[in-house]
Amino acid sequence: MSKTISNMVRGLPRGLIVEPSTGCTGSCRGCPQPESPVSLEPNSFMEWLHARPADHTTIHFAGKHSDPLAATALPELVSIARKRSSMVSISTIGLGFTDATAGLPVDRWILSIPAATGESWLALRGNSRLQEFRNNLRRISLEGCGMVELVLTVWKPSLGDTEAFLELAAEAGVKNLKRVFGRFDPGGNHLGRVENLAIDSPDSPYLLDEAGVPKLKGTPAGCPLADTLFLDARGTLHPCPFCSDNEALEKNPSREAWQTSMKWKVLKDRREFTPCRWCP
Ligand code: SF4
Repeated sequence: MSKTISNMVRGLPRGLIVEPSTGCTGSCRGCPQPESPVSLEPNSFMEWLHARPADHTTIHFAGKHSDPLAATALPELVSIARKRSSMVSISTIGLGFTDATAGLPVDRWILSIPAATGESWLALRGNSRLQEFRNNLRRISLEGCGMVELVLTVWKPSLGDTEAFLELAAEAGVKNLKRVFGRFDPGGNHLGRVENLAIDSPDSPYLLDEAGVPKLKGTPAGCPLADTLFLDARGTLHPCPFCSDNEALEKNPSREAWQTSMKWKVLKDRREFTPCRWCP
């Protein structure tokens, strides 16, 4: 609570999303992977945290076309985060756990899947690693630290996977569940290509315009990540994981960089960055 008040007083967003590595553990068909993935240097992470005017309440490790479990330094990064925030969480696709990563002392694991049946998994990822995921989910749920949340991201092939999703959660004893729609990725780098969107579902946040390009239905509210910033694996600070290097960024850790980042909140809430137009 005291960190939240301190953040509010100083105007610092209460959450920080951190990308530990540009590498991934998914091996999805057609996903271009970097030959030499970049990992966030623990010293750079520490410098950013030291320069803050106040501590963030939450530090959340996540990927951007990447996965935290690909980072060899993940245990060290988690240890640094634990000493400097009230809550530490990891969001992952749940593939490639090792003994070291499965035992990490985090408050919350968020495991996200694009499908809950072998057929839809294969259709989306071009391989079938659902059984591996099932084993990992069980392991983290029964032996890991912290709360486990299971998320089904709905794409066109997995629109009918709800029942299988509930079964998957039940057999691992996971009770925190979420079902979200896949986000359009205009870069086409990830699953979020237009052909994968569950656009025909009445719950889809998107419809297609005359040119066949997805656009949001209605007028969205403010930024869903207004109170959060994003530190990428190269040690660069961004408004959110979706803004590219053409948008606002700060490359060097300093008090001034954090102060500049506080001004991004207004722009985020007005949805003035380019990717905001596709953000549900
Ligand atoms: S794309 Fe825009 S609306 Fe979406 S999280 Fe980023 S800043 Fe917020």
